Amino acid sequence: MPEEILDDISHRRYNPLRGSWLLVSPHRTKRPWQGQQEPASKPSLPPYDPECYLCPKNKRAQGDTNPDYTSTFVFVNDYSAVKEKQAEYKQAEDTKDLSDVLLRAEPVTGKCYVLTFSPSHNLTLADLTSAEILPVVKTWIQIYAAHLSPSSPLAAVAKASTLPPSNNEVSALKAQYKWMQIFENKGAAMGCSNPHPHGQIWTTTGLPEEPTQEIEQLTKYRRDNGGKSMLSDYVKLELEKKERIVFKNASFIVVCPWWAVWPFEVMIISIAHKRALVDFSSSEQLDFAESIAEVTRRYDNLFETSFPYSSGIHQAPLEGTEEEIESSHFHMHFYPPLLRSATVRKFLVGYELMAEPQRDITPEQAAAKLRACGGELYRKRL
Ligand SMILES: [Zn+2]
Ligand SMILES: [Zn+2]
Repeated sequence: MPEEILDDISHRRYNPLRGSWLLVSPHRTKRPWQGQQEPASKPSLPPYDPECYLCPKNKRAQGDTNPDYTSTFVFVNDYSAVKEKQAEYKQAEDTKDLSDVLLRAEPVTGKCYVLTFSPSHNLTLADLTSAEILPVVKTWIQIYAAHLSPSSPLAAVAKASTLPPSNNEVSALKAQYKWMQIFENKGAAMGCSNPHPHGQIWTTTGLPEEPTQEIEQLTKYRRDNGGKSMLSDYVKLELEKKERIVFKNASFIVVCPWWAVWPFEVMIISIAHKRALVDFSSSEQLDFAESIAEVTRRYDNLFETSFPYSSGIHQAPLEGTEEEIESSHFHMHFYPPLLRSATVRKFLVGYELMAEPQRDITPEQAAAKLRACGGELYRKRL
């Protein structure tokens, strides 16, 4: 295989999803793999913390009290980054004024939610079974469906939102938002201040940078390749080559992408072309939950620690042209910072910030390690 030589030489890899490049320097990790150097970490958190603003029945910052929930719970973030109502702002369009050219701004409104994954303070997605993650997937689907533009072709397939009455705030929208970013920051290394298992959902009027780049690339590929989805073609290649696949079931592959920047970065990609969460059948919803369980459990098993990461879902925008929506292909990114052990982490610094991202261990090596650490969660043996 012509790619084999890439195990030994420095090279750049192209990320077709972002239209960007990264530097790969595999010879820098030719030193023997040392594996974990710290003892396996044991969980020490209580299942309920009276001080936690996410635990059932506790009071939150702005005085609201959480219900005695038993599965997932959604509420509007008490410290939202964007708000539904704010003072009006419009920049003058007189381009002769230098400040209108160089000091540009546009207003953003939106709504930010917090979603708890479990009532138990001391669990993470890695501790949950596929069946226990399924309610999280279903809640994401309901919230996405509730925010879809009525003009989107996806609105026809989206079932009406059936969130419980305590979550009426989800459907009472003041504007049509364009983008929904579902994400999780897990662990103090990713700046997450509360260990209670939870993620966030931010909706905004504008389309942010990452999805803008991906949608442009996906749209261009579809146009240039007779209507084919870039990620369908990519999945086909990965299934043939098998070098970077960590896990697969009937509906999804988990892969360390060819262009991964973070040492153990993975993507969950739908094998069939799915535009968004609302396209999933019930069995695909469960297969997606299983893929999340497989990623997070393997991550924790890798260094026998609660593995930090940021993860997020990319799918069709809530509102967009038919071409943008049809070009979108559902996937989820996991960006974890750990490199060789529970404490040796990678930072994106000097060269990465000034030139382009760089990695040492190849995605093929990372995939082999993640493939090898499936099975029971290490903590259950302690
Ligand atoms: Zn809690
Ligand atoms: Zn993406």
